[in-house]
Amino acid sequence: MSKRDYYEVLGVNRDASDEEIKKAYRKLAMKHHPDRNPDNPKAEEHFKEAKSAYEILSDGQKRSAYDQYGHAGVEQGAGGGFGGGAGGFSDAFGDIFGDIFGGGRSRSNVHRGADLQYNLEITLEEAARGTETKIRIPTQEECGTCHGSGAKPGTQPTTCTTCGGHGQVRMQQGFFSIQQTCPKCHGSGKIVASPCADCHGVGRVKRQKTLSVKIPAGVDTGDRIRLSGEGEAGVNGGPTGDLYVVIHLKKHSVFERDHNDLHCEMPISYTVAALGGEIEIPTLEGHAKIKIPAETQTGRVFRLRGKGIQGVRTHAPGDLLCHVQIETPVSLTERQKELLRELETLSQEDDARHNPKARSFMDKVKAFFG
Ligand SMILES: [Zn+2]
Ligand SMILES: [Zn+2]
Repeated sequence: MSKRDYYEVLGVNRDASDEEIKKAYRKLAMKHHPDRNPDNPKAEEHFKEAKSAYEILSDGQKRSAYDQYGHAGVEQGAGGGFGGGAGGFSDAFGDIFGDIFGGGRSRSNVHRGADLQYNLEITLEEAARGTETKIRIPTQEECGTCHGSGAKPGTQPTTCTTCGGHGQVRMQQGFFSIQQTCPKCHGSGKIVASPCADCHGVGRVKRQKTLSVKIPAGVDTGDRIRLSGEGEAGVNGGPTGDLYVVIHLKKHSVFERDHNDLHCEMPISYTVAALGGEIEIPTLEGHAKIKIPAETQTGRVFRLRGKGIQGVRTHAPGDLLCHVQIETPVSLTERQKELLRELETLSQEDDARHNPKARSFMDKVKAFFG
């Protein structure tokens, strides 16, 4: 389904002020709010549409990305890896439009720095309690020596004489006149006569930077933490990109997480299952005891309320669910086997009472072949 233009959604001009955008959104939100339109899916859709339009157009950075690249510029793809964000788009479009239609785009060489993605693995315990960690990321930073100009300190870049500072030149090829990136300044419009020694005239340098990241308690795999302005430096004065830290939970030896609930398998001996007993189980905050009633069957689930994880956006912690697994004894001694055989003989005297499931299954089998 194609998305409607955000300006069209809000009914404002493309050069609308922040105040006008806010006003337009308020009006629509009041009109279509679900509380005022119960059981009206159309209204709800309008409300959501207005909301996403407002989220983008009320944020200066997102709005300019949207203005430049449309919906593609503000959508966060699911794909990962470094530098897959807005910078990738601007580069791709810059190449295509810069070469073919470059003439009209005077600011085509100003790019927002790429968004970076960092995949962070943490343990379940860290996710449950929250943590603070340091990460090292490779990034392009503005060169500190020349402050991004690319020129040796004390000198200034000069306007390119080949293209007159436009970054584009017109070439005649047969009947066609083609705009091309200026071969002398490579589109920057400037010539650096004495390049800065530290960045070789590029204005940006590759660096490893160390960042401290606060992980809030309750995060789960796939959650993203945005560090605004910690992405790559912009090109030719463009804004800096953002860094997204994407959380991945390591596999835990005991617990499996499902949203805010924890699950664990709890093997118990068949004697405890038959006679009942008390067993100790681990929780994230230490130990807890579970009373196993007599005649507990395999697969039974014991729920410990509030012993799960308190999610980032929830008010109450989840539960811990312990799944009983009855363990068949192994490596038995002769004496143990002897006792079991005796037990079996006793059980068979009233099979239907002691093993009702097995008995009813056998009855069904008999009926089937009977
Ligand atoms: Zn430099
Ligand atoms: Zn030039």
